[in-house]
Amino acid sequence: MTEKKKVVIVGGGITGLAAAYYLRKHARENQLPLDVKLVESSHRVGGKMQTYVKDGFVIERGPDSFLERKESAGRLAREVGLGDKLVNNSTGKSYVLVKDKLHPMPGGAVMGIPTQIAPFVTTGLFSWPGKFRAAGDFFIPPSKVKGDQSLGEFFRRRLGDEVVENLIEPLLSGIYAGNIDNMSLLSTFPQFYQVEQKYGSLILGTKKTTPSAKKKPAETGQAKKKGMFLTVTTGLQSFVDAIESKLEPGSVIKGIRVDKVSKQENGYRLRLSSGESLDADSILIAAPHEAALHMFSDHEHIFDPFRDMPSTSVATVAMAFPESVIKEDIDGTGFVVSRNSDYTITACTWTHKKWPHTTPEGKVLLRLYVGRPGDEAIVELSDDEIIKIALEDLNKTMDIQAQPDFAVVSRWKEAMPQYTVGHKERVTKLKNDLASELPGVYVGGSSYEGVGLPDCIDQGEAAVEKILSYLKL
Ligand code: FAD
Repeated sequence: MTEKKKVVIVGGGITGLAAAYYLRKHARENQLPLDVKLVESSHRVGGKMQTYVKDGFVIERGPDSFLERKESAGRLAREVGLGDKLVNNSTGKSYVLVKDKLHPMPGGAVMGIPTQIAPFVTTGLFSWPGKFRAAGDFFIPPSKVKGDQSLGEFFRRRLGDEVVENLIEPLLSGIYAGNIDNMSLLSTFPQFYQVEQKYGSLILGTKKTTPSAKKKPAETGQAKKKGMFLTVTTGLQSFVDAIESKLEPGSVIKGIRVDKVSKQENGYRLRLSSGESLDADSILIAAPHEAALHMFSDHEHIFDPFRDMPSTSVATVAMAFPESVIKEDIDGTGFVVSRNSDYTITACTWTHKKWPHTTPEGKVLLRLYVGRPGDEAIVELSDDEIIKIALEDLNKTMDIQAQPDFAVVSRWKEAMPQYTVGHKERVTKLKNDLASELPGVYVGGSSYEGVGLPDCIDQGEAAVEKILSYLKL
């Protein structure tokens, strides 16, 4: 009998789970001699995907959905039997809060880049000088920077500080919880660099290359159009559970940490926090870069470029209310807060409107975000303090006359990896160094090539291909 090849996946977030699922699927369909183990340090798999279900509410503690356009997440959900539970978000007005005033998001804005002139001319979000400065985009030549640059530098040069601070920055920090002036253009939105280089103007290029931007408002049906995001009606935890149920019984080891990876004459040995060890022919490290640095202490120089890579701490606060206590409601699905406003919250979603399945009839569910680079101490406060601050902030724009029926605070400490300028080069170097010094060891997940759930699944799938090719299976 052929001896089975051993693969160990370290980290049971969505990256590790997707890799474990596709490895098993491939091994079963092709009757491959493969033994796959997934080691997860906590007592549950799913990592940042966690749902709290109570009294008919479905509350996401971490991610609440994924982009439908990036197909891998929807595909995996269907594969594990959740096709009939996928729903798109309901669309509605969204806002930017600038200095105590909610401004509707200007129509045609793609990640804050104007693609329709009229809504930008008429919006109260920017002053006239700010609008004129943004029009400079039609004349400013493409940047001569060949390598990476910060998102802030790129957008400020093209559209001016005001459009960046009142629109682009709040939108982008909503995704990355990052500082736009340190974040890498090439690792986050390389398409905008390409558009600039090809079309000269970011406004004209984005209009040409974004299908929805080419339609007139009437064609898009505004509020009625289908949302861009998908989620699972029973909560993203059930997505995690469905993947786990498809893995080989006994292949998932929980509550045990991988402490160290050592190279052996043939393959690798992983030392576990239980005192035991596991041998592997190939390994996928799907744990955050901070953990990888620790595990490869014998090969520090390989991960060294990631030693200074920061991760921001954030928290989400979900609050449930009876409908009647919201005296002044807002017609929309949520808002993001500009950095120059005196607020602690960074964004708020009217979850009951964006995702109606999450909230029972007659109730309201709001989800707020706190924490951003330079303002992370809030995450350390007690639940009661965080809820109090969040409510005070909310009441500057809404009129909520009671405490919530209940609130759920979820802290994510050092959980949002920051792709700073030069990140892409560092990832390429890491992969090359691994290939030459530790063949058969791969990395994937939100520390490297994308933080969105589909990006993480893509990385898990890509690692599966590399592992199978390395093992010649
Ligand atoms: P993780 O989920 O972090 O999993 C890594 C796992 O490795 C963890 O379970 C950890 O316990 C384990 N581990 C660590 N060290 C070890 C070790 N030594 N040994 C064994 N195991 C170890 N993305 C979206 O697409 N849509 C959203 O709406 C969205 N919203 C978000 C909201 C919040 C508040 C946060 C925090 C993130 C959000 N994201 C969103 C991003 C997305 O959730 C993450 O990027 C993604 O879940 C990360 O998956 P991962 O597999 O890379 O890592």
